[in-house]
Amino acid sequence: MAETVESTSPAALAGISAVEPLAPCADFPILSREIHGKPLVFLDSAASAQKPRQVLDAMDSFARTSYANIHRGAYTLSEEATAAYEGARKRIARFINARSVREVIYTRNTTEAINLVARTWADANLDEDDVIVLTEMEHHSNIVPWQLAAARTGAHIEYVPVTDEGELDLAAYARILDAMKPKLVALTQMSNVLGTLPPVTEMIAQAHAVGAVVLLDGAQSVPHTAVDVRALDCDFLAFSAHKMLGPSGIGVLWGRRELLEAMPPFLGGGDMIREVRLEGSTWNDLPWKFEAGTPAIIEAVGLGAAVDYLGALGMANVRAHEHALVAYALERLAAVPELRIYGPPAERRGGVVSFTLADIHAHDLATLLDRDGIAVRAGHHCAQPLMERYKLPATARASFYVYSTAAEIDALAEALERARAVFTF
Ligand code: PMP
Repeated sequence: MAETVESTSPAALAGISAVEPLAPCADFPILSREIHGKPLVFLDSAASAQKPRQVLDAMDSFARTSYANIHRGAYTLSEEATAAYEGARKRIARFINARSVREVIYTRNTTEAINLVARTWADANLDEDDVIVLTEMEHHSNIVPWQLAAARTGAHIEYVPVTDEGELDLAAYARILDAMKPKLVALTQMSNVLGTLPPVTEMIAQAHAVGAVVLLDGAQSVPHTAVDVRALDCDFLAFSAHKMLGPSGIGVLWGRRELLEAMPPFLGGGDMIREVRLEGSTWNDLPWKFEAGTPAIIEAVGLGAAVDYLGALGMANVRAHEHALVAYALERLAAVPELRIYGPPAERRGGVVSFTLADIHAHDLATLLDRDGIAVRAGHHCAQPLMERYKLPATARASFYVYSTAAEIDALAEALERARAVFTF
């Protein structure tokens, strides 16, 4: 059984250090860039990861030698393109341990994957007597689609509160489930702001016990740890290629086959139909029922290559490396005077550290860090309710991946110390 996020014990992580990158930096051409005359220190992988040459080469070589539209052509190039597109789907299915390749639907990104469920499953299954459970730590893309669905169906949304330490209030969650018997629970497997790893396996079991369907937002978890949809026993999982070494423009919705079969289509058009008549149409089999129009073909090849690359590194090693990095970062950054870090301890956190420094605005801080070649994100991180919870207008966020090192965290800490001196002279 593949390891799930919350079952990763520090002991199991022994042997991987933060000193060396897990993946050779030479694989990532962009990392040799200089910014303002300084070596690039890229600490914004939670927003979008950099791509190894294996992914870039796979897309380039496919575009140069085998590109054509898929599925319809009875000619060699189209057959090759179809095989590449569908072959990537098979590797993605294996990567998340899906029962069937038919459960893997290509979307544009996590956002579209969640909207697909919120439009089709929610509209067909919810009415004004129903409750949707979300959490206060969700990204906007796991809030707004449900608010829109609630407005259409009359369903009520209940939010699981977040504690001062940045974890979900699990007692409140249990009370909400018990009192409200929701039809749907949609929650993140890792917070993009605090790095929190909620105990999703238990939370899914609890939700199922009251009959709820569970959607996991895997945008931050699938790139960083082994995610096994069978072990988790979730019903839907959404994730994006661009956060897992792949290209932007493609993402995935995995869904339990029975649920997907019963759902009406999302977008209408070519490829998603079996037959179109002037009086009406019938739908294609899964997964194509949900893939209207010409999809992101080259990007699917890129995502397949990204999955191969991560598979070769080993997802347990990816998780171990990031655990080592985040543990080091929490310790090193704590030594920066007036720096405040938000979120849980390293054991229950992925490779994300959000912070504020004195009363310097996060955007000013990020701009100053950029002068040192350091790329961090600043703002509300598309999680305004969470920022509101902590009464924060913005934070700066450093996030790590397979190419990150402790030396880069040192560079960040030193640059923060210089920034403090500039702002607080
Ligand atoms: N959920 C989480 C937790 C995220 O971090 C993100 C991206 N920041 C998303 C959803 C949305 O991903 P995308 O923009 O690729 O749709």
